[in-house]
Amino acid sequence: RAGDAVADRAAALSIRGVTRRFGDVAALDDVSIDLEPGEFMSIIGPSGCGKSTLLRSIAGLEEIDAGHILIGDRDVRGLRPSEREVAFVFQSYALYPHMTCRQNLAAPLMMQELSALGRAPGLHRLSPRARRRRADIARRVDRIAAQLQIETLLDRRPLQLSGGQRQRVALGRALIREPKLFLLDEPLANLDAALRNTTRAELHALQRRVGATTLFVTHDQAEAMAISDRIAVMFAGRVRQVGTPDELYRNPVDLDVARFLSQPWLNRIDAATVARRLERGPARPVARIRGEALRDATGVVAFRPEHATVHPEEDRATPGLRVEVERAEHAGSDANLFVRLRDDGTPCVVRIASEGIDDWPPGRPALMRFDMDAAWVFPHPDPDPDA
Ligand code: ATP
Repeated sequence: RAGDAVADRAAALSIRGVTRRFGDVAALDDVSIDLEPGEFMSIIGPSGCGKSTLLRSIAGLEEIDAGHILIGDRDVRGLRPSEREVAFVFQSYALYPHMTCRQNLAAPLMMQELSALGRAPGLHRLSPRARRRRADIARRVDRIAAQLQIETLLDRRPLQLSGGQRQRVALGRALIREPKLFLLDEPLANLDAALRNTTRAELHALQRRVGATTLFVTHDQAEAMAISDRIAVMFAGRVRQVGTPDELYRNPVDLDVARFLSQPWLNRIDAATVARRLERGPARPVARIRGEALRDATGVVAFRPEHATVHPEEDRATPGLRVEVERAEHAGSDANLFVRLRDDGTPCVVRIASEGIDDWPPGRPALMRFDMDAAWVFPHPDPDPDA
């Protein structure tokens, strides 16, 4: 593979017991995460959970109060940002306004070059070797520009670009140095939906080719699912769960993680209500969720809209929960049907085919079933002081 030479240089990242306080707030509370060389990990979590603080701490832009950060086998605590061999792309990209895109892209390599030479001689005084290195820089600029589809913009200055175009130049400038560790803080946030998708795919392909170990902060769980080897989910400064997209999707550790990964909706019904309804009558089998009998369960049964179905009320062949339709919303080829449990008024959402929407007018009584192998039982959450 083209990127093998670089992949060999990719550093593992080890975050060990890192804590960072701002007054009473622990922005990071004993955070430990390990990345393999070349791994792409996303950090997701609600606003204020500490994602940016974590990235800034790794980059050396933020002091930490406790713990250690190892890049490769080097403990970087106390090292300046420039000494950490890390490339950082923020949501707010900073390009040199007086330089063209070409110059912006070349800038990190030129700086390396100049510091190697010790000073900046005029072109006529360059040795043949230095000339070859300049030609190599030009080739690398062209290559990264082609990969990010910004070739036609190379002679423009940042003010002559759209936000999305500037963002791509900023990504290119970070990638061109082929860093060992790549830190991205919501780098796609300013792009519109279509450009965000293509830029995301390009970013992923580039990361694979370059092989840089990457930590990617996003609040968009679908984005994280699409491109990560693994995802770390944070709440209030702590890491709740680390796993592959598939592991997190199937086996979230708690209700918070399940809700965060089931946006916009996760259905939640009191376990006793579900057990009572599904087990009425002597002939009913014991309701089981993932093999666990529901009969004595306390807590919350949770499942996604796509794992639920609605049926006419007369259809009593298999047990279901009695609901009443509230309204339906088109969502492309699917539709979302909003219903309420007739027992206790709990709101739920069922994903249906949009052709079926007229079958479920508001007020229609129905039965809702859900896939017991795709549901979970979680303990009741702690009472939310803000609720
Ligand atoms: P968002 O998704 O909104 O960007 P985040 O997950 O990146 O949020 P951080 O920016 O890391 O969250 O902030 C974590 C916590 O630390 C928040 O409560 C924030 O208010 C607090 N915090 C961050 N930086 C500072 C600072 N310089 N001074 C005081 N508090 C701060």
